[in-house]
Amino acid sequence: MLDGEHLRVIQNFVRGLPEAIPVDTVERAERFLAEQAANLRPDQLDTLAKRCALLINPDGTFSDADRARQRGFSWCGQRADGMSVGKLVASPELRANLDAWLARFAAPGMCNPDDETPCIRGEPDQEVASTDRRSHTQRQHDALNALVRSQLGNPKLGVHNGLPVTVIVSTTLKELTAGTGQAVTAGGTVLPIRDLIRMARHAYHYLAVFDEHHSRPLYLGRTRRVASPDQRVVLYAKDRGCTHPGCDAPGYWCEVHHLDDWATGGHTNADKLTLACKPHHNLTENGWKTTRLANGRTAWIPPPRLDRGQPRTNDYHHPERFFNDDSPPGGP
Ligand SMILES: [Zn+2]
Repeated sequence: MLDGEHLRVIQNFVRGLPEAIPVDTVERAERFLAEQAANLRPDQLDTLAKRCALLINPDGTFSDADRARQRGFSWCGQRADGMSVGKLVASPELRANLDAWLARFAAPGMCNPDDETPCIRGEPDQEVASTDRRSHTQRQHDALNALVRSQLGNPKLGVHNGLPVTVIVSTTLKELTAGTGQAVTAGGTVLPIRDLIRMARHAYHYLAVFDEHHSRPLYLGRTRRVASPDQRVVLYAKDRGCTHPGCDAPGYWCEVHHLDDWATGGHTNADKLTLACKPHHNLTENGWKTTRLANGRTAWIPPPRLDRGQPRTNDYHHPERFFNDDSPPGGP
């Protein structure tokens, strides 16, 4: 049995091979490395894997398809200080595009969040540029943020699940007025209230504010009547993500599920709706039932043949329950 680190070394080895290598060669090398893993540390296994890769592909030739297969961007989770590390493997095209953008918008004096009015078009003031104390990497970060922010909220982007393509945040009135604490976005990102208030100057995001004690929506930014997009905002705030036990899908990826089956007269009221990712939503077609508990949480009841007494509710999106909850984890 391989542990996670050894497994990752072998996965990276396989991923790094050109597509043209015959399958049985790859499998043989994989088996060899798995055997060696029993006696080697992960860093030793990695060195061995690199030597295997050189043996298999001595000229280091990679086709365009091999290169394209490697591309990707992902987050590595959010750290305790709120910052996130991302991993980007950029195609030559993306890098060329980014280089062109950064040359202009990561220049000293551009897109500086510390400036009263950050310069986002035209030339920055000489004085502003010469007193810009940000590092090169900080300026590149701010230029990327300016690029994305300039796009969000643009009606031309269309809608995602009936809502504008924008940041959707929920918080409580208490935290908002205190200017401290943390809000959560529908993508599952924890956002300090200070940052949220600063972002509000751009006024592109949807904001749901909740009564501390009742989780009752007090205010929905930019909305007047309760229609289905607004209900989705409420669900983002309440459920935050898929409610199926153990699922980590954030709200943006979820579908709205009727707790009482719509076909048999269920209502489209926010308190009768819940979030479920597509695969888990599909379970409701296969004998799974959902119900709302007295504490407002959604319970998932498996069909009898699959019932092993597993948890009924999902705490993954609600780590704060750890602090202020008397009920056992996973529900009744
Ligand atoms: Zn799910």
